[in-house]
Amino acid sequence: MQWPDLHKLMPGTSPTDPHEARKWRRQNVIDNPHIVAHYMHLRHSMFREEVFEHFHQATDYWSRYEWQHRGSPHVHGFLWLKNAPNMDTLNWDDPIEVISAKKYFDKCVHAINPREGHQHNIQIGVNVDDHPSVKDTKQIFQSDPMIDYEELINCVERHITCNEKSCLRKKGGKMVCWYHTPWDLCDHSKLYIDEQGEKKYEPRRNDDRVNTHNRETLMMWRANIDW
Ligand SMILES: [Zn+2]
Repeated sequence: MQWPDLHKLMPGTSPTDPHEARKWRRQNVIDNPHIVAHYMHLRHSMFREEVFEHFHQATDYWSRYEWQHRGSPHVHGFLWLKNAPNMDTLNWDDPIEVISAKKYFDKCVHAINPREGHQHNIQIGVNVDDHPSVKDTKQIFQSDPMIDYEELINCVERHITCNEKSCLRKKGGKMVCWYHTPWDLCDHSKLYIDEQGEKKYEPRRNDDRVNTHNRETLMMWRANIDW
């Protein structure tokens, strides 16, 4: 909803007052789903080529667009990455192979919030007028990358509230989050096979509400991602 390039395509002009501008952006998205859908497709196609193929060295991909309640669009997908360990042939009895695979995932999957204070869902107010996704390209390049990343993570990457419309499901007589939040904090990443025989990776985590993500992809996509 915040991307400035999207709103350049919308009818009318943005109000100068930040609060009014935010309302204008929201209404634009509701009133012009055809513009949003086409922009999303253009942005994702370009992103796939520049970021997934060139930056992450993806050799293949699969993706699908979905519209939440016929409104806000999002994309689900798989990437086949050139140097990724093959989990079908990994020898779990060889610690060197397992450590090397884990190191690969450590570089790709992140769940560390640079704003250490969060940990157990401590809320820190977000100034929505300063939303990092509102920045244009020039402002992004003028930003300190570490501060930009910290702002993005805390604005778009935390699963803060659970509710019945989105993620809460009934399980064993009580309502639980579909995404299993809050996630356990974790000082060391893990690559293992669980009791059900599923291969699992868990990154280091200092915040029980931050989604697993890829730092570079988040900084370029500039909206919520899971990785
Ligand atoms: Zn939830």
